[in-house]
Amino acid sequence: EVILAHNSDATVRVIESIDEDADDRSGKVPYTTDFHVIREKLASQSNFLQANLPHQKAGHGPPVFVLKGIHEQPKKVNPSSIAVEAWLAFIHHGIGKLPHHLYAMPPNEVWNVVGVGAEYGICHGSLDGLKPWFFKWYEQNLLQQILARELAFPCFVFDHAEGFMKATKWLAYNCSGHVQESNPTEYRHLHLDPRVFTGAINAARGHLKTVLQRELWGVIEHLYTATCACRKETEFDYQNTLVKLNAWPLERVYQRTAMSTILDRLAKFSFTPATTTCDSRVCQRDFNQVVYKAHDRTSQDFQGLCLDCMRRSRPKNDMTHEDYWRYNYPVNGCWDMGCRFGHGRSTW
Ligand SMILES: [Zn+2]
Ligand SMILES: [Zn+2]
Repeated sequence: EVILAHNSDATVRVIESIDEDADDRSGKVPYTTDFHVIREKLASQSNFLQANLPHQKAGHGPPVFVLKGIHEQPKKVNPSSIAVEAWLAFIHHGIGKLPHHLYAMPPNEVWNVVGVGAEYGICHGSLDGLKPWFFKWYEQNLLQQILARELAFPCFVFDHAEGFMKATKWLAYNCSGHVQESNPTEYRHLHLDPRVFTGAINAARGHLKTVLQRELWGVIEHLYTATCACRKETEFDYQNTLVKLNAWPLERVYQRTAMSTILDRLAKFSFTPATTTCDSRVCQRDFNQVVYKAHDRTSQDFQGLCLDCMRRSRPKNDMTHEDYWRYNYPVNGCWDMGCRFGHGRSTW
């Protein structure tokens, strides 16, 4: 029971199905929360509630309105009570007086706040009012790396530039194989346009491989131009060192290994050519320095996706997605002029 106003004239009831402990076979039990509200405050914020929330009749107590899913499998999906509470508390008390526990909800409930707002058209479909709430929630929950996949969506819809950049950077470096979005709610339609999320991150992943391959392969191409007798042994020993670290051939390793793991392996690279008498400059190169530079360039290559840059460079109509991301890839030039979260900073 949540009392949002002592002079309430309506009750919004949320019946939730709560997951029981995994060892309990009985599955889900319903859990009821009653919100005592002022009808007019809700009705003015949502056409759905205006049309459906009953009026109190003279001589009767406040009517009870059971909030059910309407768009998404109406009979199966019930709204989450904490997500409903976030909206109702905001509408009744304003952004400055939200109860503390709304800042401690898990990320999936943040998705539910977005889903509930969209489902019932609260604040006429706008998230702007709750934006300060999300920013504070983000501060207090510090981006946990394991949750990056779930955080990109709320950071995007609440327009949190720093969070979106960190989450997308983390995903590009720490996922193996094709990156997919993970929606932790039953609002299945909530997801990001592939252009701004999975497509962009997978393009970034591909680019990381290109950079690392170019850096590690360049020295081999030099060996092919050498004429000394020891060049073959040097080339074999160099590649063999990479193979033994399980970092080579990159094309194969990268299919099932995250870039962060490959970079960790390369950090252990140590190789000195067997020859000490070769007068070719190629065999005398500092191979450790070559790999160190490759590591450095690859780990600096992608800073995450910047909401401000993305907004400035909307795709033109005749651009394919691929063109768009090539055009927008933050590699060349100064990208972060006017961006809220500077691109050069790496805080992971
Ligand atoms: Zn040589
Ligand atoms: Zn930017």
